[in-house]
Amino acid sequence: MDYYGSELSRLIDELSLLPGIGRKSAQRLAFHLIGLPEEKVEKLASTMVSARKNIRYCKECFTLTDKDICPICASKDRDHRTIMVVEDTRDLAAYEKTGKYNGVYHVLHGAISPMLGIGPGDIRLKELMRRLEKDVDEVIIATNNSLEGETTAMYISKLIKPTGIKCSRIASGVPVGGDLEYVDEVTLLRALEGRVEL
Ligand code: ZN
Repeated sequence: MDYYGSELSRLIDELSLLPGIGRKSAQRLAFHLIGLPEEKVEKLASTMVSARKNIRYCKECFTLTDKDICPICASKDRDHRTIMVVEDTRDLAAYEKTGKYNGVYHVLHGAISPMLGIGPGDIRLKELMRRLEKDVDEVIIATNNSLEGETTAMYISKLIKPTGIKCSRIASGVPVGGDLEYVDEVTLLRALEGRVEL
């Protein structure tokens, strides 16, 4: 029975489509929103719409940004000859938080997973190889220590081998299966400093 009425039910339905939000959380959020002053809800909604409209992929490293070229790729202070390959923008943010990495990034937006039917063509690998045609000294592969992350690292290292560019993998101080964004900064730094050449 639709005891909430259609408007409230629709709101709960939409919210429950968000990741990690079950039916109960969706209800809680819906009631919270209804209880807010109208202008607060309008601000939230317009922020979401504008973010969706304006945020795109950096043309260089494919991280999410609201400019053609992200601030990291645009910076003259960064070492553009060292590229760290990560699975997604959140991993990039995790490394940026350490404040100790001065190179640039390449965001794959996923990892190779035969089980899920995700192949090399489904992530930003071609784009990475294109970047390697320019002057690059080292590629640091910082994909997750999951099966998919390891598979992707192996695949990339094989692609890079013939180019003669130095290719390294972050040390396995990162817990197996642990997403990089949940790993603390000290562990990340140790993994970066202890990287091994492939
Ligand atoms: Zn960029």
